[in-house]
Amino acid sequence: TFIVLEGGEGAGKSTQAGQLSVWLRDEGFEVVPTREPGSTKLGMRLRALLLDKEHTGMSPRAEALLYAADRADHVGEVILPALRRGAIVISDRYIDSTLAYQGAGRELDAAEIERVNAWATDGLTPHLTVLLDLPPDEGLARLGGSTDRIESESAEFHGRVRKGFRELAERDPGRYLVLDAREPQEQILREIQRRVRPLLPD
Ligand code: C5P
Repeated sequence: TFIVLEGGEGAGKSTQAGQLSVWLRDEGFEVVPTREPGSTKLGMRLRALLLDKEHTGMSPRAEALLYAADRADHVGEVILPALRRGAIVISDRYIDSTLAYQGAGRELDAAEIERVNAWATDGLTPHLTVLLDLPPDEGLARLGGSTDRIESESAEFHGRVRKGFRELAERDPGRYLVLDAREPQEQILREIQRRVRPLLPD
């Protein structure tokens, strides 16, 4: 089972991924928590490049391809091997982040990004994607001034990213669970659990 958490800056994805992992381990499953970018040796190098302020203004296509390269390595080295042995994979970000940030945010063509990423991942699609939705100003405030290359983008950029995520969810409601990230953490976890339970192996 492959579960992804998506959302903008400061939405609480990593907190929820952690809680979800603890719950599923308690239920007796092997869980592989992971994240993008940067979950392999190569990915860590790519993450450093992607988040470095030195590369502010890198070409949007180069940026999209570096995320896709990270994702290809992530799928091949971490996600597929785990899924093959029956583990539950919980990833903090996946393809929809690229559709939202590089597609909606950097205004690259969505169909082209989808094609590149379908190739990079050999078509691997999550069973469930949880979108933790939050107005960007609230998310950025939660981070309390930590600013990497993307977090310091304009309010318009983050607004397009949020809209991009919401449109992806509307297009594919069967795969998506959209939650208000301003709700209390325990309530968000309960709603995720309700949606995940039927997906679990016996
Ligand atoms: O989720 P995390 O904070 O680790 O992501 C690192 C940074 O990379 C974030 O600032 C996020 O906005 C950015 N990012 C991006 N495009 C992606 C994935 C992440 O710009 N496809």
